[in-house]
Amino acid sequence: MENNNPFCPIRRQAIPSTEELQDEGDDDPLKENDISVTPVLMKRYPGRAVFLISSECAMYCRFCNRKRIVGKGWDPGEFFEESFKYLSSDTTIREIILSGGDPFMIQPGLLDDILSRLRTMQHIRTIRISTRMPIVDPVRMTEEHFRILKKHEPLWIVFHINHPLEVTLEFLENVKKFRNAGSAMISQTVLLRNINDCENILLKLFEALVAAGVKPYYLFQLDEVRGAQHFKVRLERGIRIMKALRAKASGLAMPQYAVDITGGLGKVPVDYVYLKGRKGKKVYMENLSGVTGAYTDDGQKSRCNKCGLCK
Ligand code: SF4
Repeated sequence: MENNNPFCPIRRQAIPSTEELQDEGDDDPLKENDISVTPVLMKRYPGRAVFLISSECAMYCRFCNRKRIVGKGWDPGEFFEESFKYLSSDTTIREIILSGGDPFMIQPGLLDDILSRLRTMQHIRTIRISTRMPIVDPVRMTEEHFRILKKHEPLWIVFHINHPLEVTLEFLENVKKFRNAGSAMISQTVLLRNINDCENILLKLFEALVAAGVKPYYLFQLDEVRGAQHFKVRLERGIRIMKALRAKASGLAMPQYAVDITGGLGKVPVDYVYLKGRKGKKVYMENLSGVTGAYTDDGQKSRCNKCGLCK
């Protein structure tokens, strides 16, 4: 962070501003309280659940959509037993996302216990850990953390990273250690006004991640959380940025741009629409240079081959 530069993109993410006092938005724009099975376990989508195992973070992002619960000094551990009980009984859950707060803020031994208990549940096949600690406080990732990750491999690690300046040597060292611990790595980025709302900044970030072996997964439109609306970028601009990125970046470096619809309706992808129209069997599409061409859409009707998977 540059101390004397008010426009420093790291500083703007971390230091409060008077703009936060504008009373727009909602404390819980995604209505996470309504989908909570326990105070620390949420289930919005079929087959998946989010488990909040920490209430603390290494840095409090000024645009956080969980401002209402992170850094408030409460202990999620009080609700672990009822959450494990639910998780072992709901065999429809195939994937669990450990979040918070930051899961790496808890004692490594406790993280080990949580992962061990989840690994005993045969129906939970995939475990994701969402974290910002390897980026904002990389030296707090210890050899013990990586030993635990190795013990429970393969895990999916989701880095929350927003700017190429966050791709530090220390972060890249962590990426290597995650890889050696058998973790698969993806990233999520929040589109932030005057911080990263430019295709060149995002291209630099996404290409740096791909070069390190991290797949950019989501670019999120800002949630309508109270006190963060000065970070909001117009959707139309976000779509223009995606279009410009697609023309310059390899597919590996393209995340999915998505909006989490206010009110708890869930995430939906948004993107520039390349399909321009149809005339009979001809569909007209624009290519990445803006030239329109045709494709003959005359495939035979599909039929079910009765494999039995949909029963
Ligand atoms: S790291 Fe995530 S949970 Fe923590 S303050 Fe930042 S956005 Fe919120």
